[in-house]
Amino acid sequence: MTLLTSWVTSANSAETDFPLNNLPYGVFSTDALDPRCGVAIGDMILDCRAAEEAGLIDITDEPLFDVPFWNEVMEDGRATWDTLRARLTEILTEGFSGEALVTDLLVPRADVEMHMPFLVAEYTDFYAGRQHAQNMGAILRGSPSLPANWLHIPIGYNGRASSVVVSGTDIHRPNGQTKAPDAKTPSFGPSRRLDIELELGAIVGKGNELGQPITVDDAETMIFGYVLLNDWSARDIQGWEYQPLGPFQGKAFGTSISPWIVTAAALEEFRAPTPARDFTLLPYLDGSKDGLYNIELEVLMQPEGAAKASSIAKTNYNRMYYSAAEQLAHHASSGCAMTAGDLLGSGTISGADHSEYGSLMELSWAGKEPFTLETGEVRGFLEDGDTVTLRGAARGDGFKIGFGDCVGKILPAVTWLAK
Ligand code: MN
Repeated sequence: MTLLTSWVTSANSAETDFPLNNLPYGVFSTDALDPRCGVAIGDMILDCRAAEEAGLIDITDEPLFDVPFWNEVMEDGRATWDTLRARLTEILTEGFSGEALVTDLLVPRADVEMHMPFLVAEYTDFYAGRQHAQNMGAILRGSPSLPANWLHIPIGYNGRASSVVVSGTDIHRPNGQTKAPDAKTPSFGPSRRLDIELELGAIVGKGNELGQPITVDDAETMIFGYVLLNDWSARDIQGWEYQPLGPFQGKAFGTSISPWIVTAAALEEFRAPTPARDFTLLPYLDGSKDGLYNIELEVLMQPEGAAKASSIAKTNYNRMYYSAAEQLAHHASSGCAMTAGDLLGSGTISGADHSEYGSLMELSWAGKEPFTLETGEVRGFLEDGDTVTLRGAARGDGFKIGFGDCVGKILPAVTWLAK
């Protein structure tokens, strides 16, 4: 597909994240408008609540946009998703007869505050990047060999929905229990190995009934869209707590997502295959579609006071071993009910080359090989005041499907115990 032309001229640039081909869904407010659903188009946002009240969006009996989150659209199902996208495309396309009416409902993106685009029902994080899993094995266990289950199961853990935050929300360095290798007993205090994980988050739009598993092809139709996801990780807390039940407090203090839900529909033409399998997956993990997408990803880091952000890694979502649909089908395979608003983290996305590593743990090899930013600072892990930005886009012919930035800044740990 080529660029679709909009009468919103800023949407017709090859460099905007939000051409007419994209139409991602977010929640915004301004000084004058309380939080509401909106669609990004170039430098502007279409106010969906106002558009529905004006009759420009009229596709369901009950209003979709009387609430400041996208869960009601998701729960309405795929027919509504498709009809809504078609109508938004129609009213924003060059030559639409009602352009003057729609113009009045546009808000400059520069003037808004973004909010969580959906209510996170539950959050599950996976470990589905092969290079990342091999790197972690080499760092933590001295061997890049994968755990025995890894090539058969999309490994995951149930995380916390309560600490998923929208881009722009500051993250306090977590306190926690750690134990140095040579120490006899653990201690408690601020994490000294604070890390990021570059991930893609899949948002479940349509659930399954408790006790009723789904196929991978079912799962493809149930995924509403995707966001960039930074799974902040305290490696020292994680390293002490994780055996035998997996991550807990080392992952529970914050997960940042980009503010715009890029729909599965917008990404459809960018599908990419999962890699060749070392072992044929069991039949319940079989799907008929290419499960991944070509999405270029970048991580940037900017210390407090630094003149600019430095790029520290570039990779692509097509590096993953398991797709989001495979992860979703696996998640439901026991009969576990999945719900509209469930968020599935892909797992850290790392490619084969060092420049493609999606965590500081890998980039600095557990702090043993610190790296230097373009502005001169040396880093192994995150320091207070550091800002991390994730970027991502699928690139088409003369346009891109961008996600908008996923930004988070590290604040000092809080203190609450008597000295
Ligand atoms: Mn993770």
